[in-house]
Amino acid sequence: MHVRSSLYINGAWVPSTSSATIEVIDAGTEEVFATIPEGTAQDVEAAVAAAAAAFPAWSALPVAERCALLGKVAEQLVARNAEIAEAISHEVGMPSLMSSLVQVGLPTGTFADAAQRAASFTYEYEVGTSLIVREPIGVVGCITPWNYPLHQIANKVAPALAVGCTVVVKPSEVAPINAFLLAEIMHEVGIPAGVFNLVTGTGPVVGEAIATHPLVDMVSFTGSTRAGKRVMQLAAETVKKVSLELGGKSANVILDDADLAKAVPDGVFKCYLNSGQTCSALTRMVVPRSKLAEIEALAVATAENFQCIDPFGDADAGKIGIGPLISAAQRDRVRGYIAKGIDEGATLLTGGAITPEGLDKGFFVAPTVFSNVTTDMTIAQEEIFGPVLSIIPYDTEEEAITIANDSLYGLAGGVWGDEARANAVARKMRTGQVEINGGSFNATAPFGGYKQSGIGRELGAFGLEEFLEVKSLQR
Ligand code: NAD
Repeated sequence: MHVRSSLYINGAWVPSTSSATIEVIDAGTEEVFATIPEGTAQDVEAAVAAAAAAFPAWSALPVAERCALLGKVAEQLVARNAEIAEAISHEVGMPSLMSSLVQVGLPTGTFADAAQRAASFTYEYEVGTSLIVREPIGVVGCITPWNYPLHQIANKVAPALAVGCTVVVKPSEVAPINAFLLAEIMHEVGIPAGVFNLVTGTGPVVGEAIATHPLVDMVSFTGSTRAGKRVMQLAAETVKKVSLELGGKSANVILDDADLAKAVPDGVFKCYLNSGQTCSALTRMVVPRSKLAEIEALAVATAENFQCIDPFGDADAGKIGIGPLISAAQRDRVRGYIAKGIDEGATLLTGGAITPEGLDKGFFVAPTVFSNVTTDMTIAQEEIFGPVLSIIPYDTEEEAITIANDSLYGLAGGVWGDEARANAVARKMRTGQVEINGGSFNATAPFGGYKQSGIGRELGAFGLEEFLEVKSLQR
């Protein structure tokens, strides 16, 4: 068991001002995997003071020196990939090979990319008689969720540090060990004291102390829309910049000329990735009614080819392994949505609120497919965050676009069909990303949401700009 008894503040491991701890539960065994400090507002005070004190020197350092240090962070993430991936498989439940590739591979790339990109970014340019200067915004509070825990920390910390900001990180209390490992790496590579600070604890205590602190210049939040709204309200008191990466209910529009044998399995996979605990999961498959039966058969065959496995086990030959959900609460919530789908009249094609056979431990939910879902149903509107696909039939292309946009969210989406038609539909979708004919995730393209999926963008050049102020020098 991991026992973490200290926070990382001002370049040192220090005890919390409280002796209270939080238990981290292993998603696969349901046992306690780790304990962490339950930080306090006083801990946040110390961390913010350290970050504010470190800001002048860090931001004045030549960008190449900052970026060289961040390049070393990327190297250490490569060196410690197996250890970090293992911790995340325990915390989150993602099968270990995927953890290594996605949960550690993505943030490694993000640190390397931010280092390279910040080193060659244009921070100054002229507009008429003015010189426009981009400067680091200051102290950034980073509040992150549990589903891709290190990726979401890296999306904030890597660009923020690269452009000269200092940070106070509050990771999810449900999957925090990866953040401790990152803090160790920050220390080892020589990130100066106060530049990176880690305070663990609950959202209402540590998260709210960060959101309200007058010396925090910006809060970069990823998590639920509910908590994001709260953070934005609290941050308003001190008029700090807020970036929000929130929930989603993304539509995958299958046009009637799509290659169904490719489109449907790809769509099911992108709904079930990380057991459906992905903010950009394609959870609504919007399909032509004329092809409904064929699509249902393909979706069921794909879903039934997934096999619930222990995160450190292997799937049978030819099967795709899918891990448990993160917690009992999440499993029960997802099963509640499945029951609601049945109650509201959707057709359950496979899966359901059952315990998959042969697994007496782990918070598993059977891969589930609903059909004949209509947009007024709860399972078509609310983010389920589990392996539950809703197939929604349409009659005309126009109706398909209306269904896709009939959501409070606007994070991601997909379209399959003739390229020109698919591109035209993608442009009509009110959402921050759309993948066309299975276009793969691009970790240097801007990521973020329309509507209640958020404010701002992460990754690539847009991800750097989030952490830069704009100054005009009139001459
Ligand atoms: P959550 O909102 O419960 O928690 C996220 C973080 O916010 C945690 O660190 C939590 O402790 C903190 N928090 C909670 N209440 C707070 C408060 N009152 N003040 C300040 N901080 C508070 O979300 P979660 O369950 O950890 O993550 C799942 C959610 O995150 C889903 O809705 C998912 O869609 C969303 N998400 C969005 C993106 C994106 O990029 N758009 C990425 C991943 C996850």
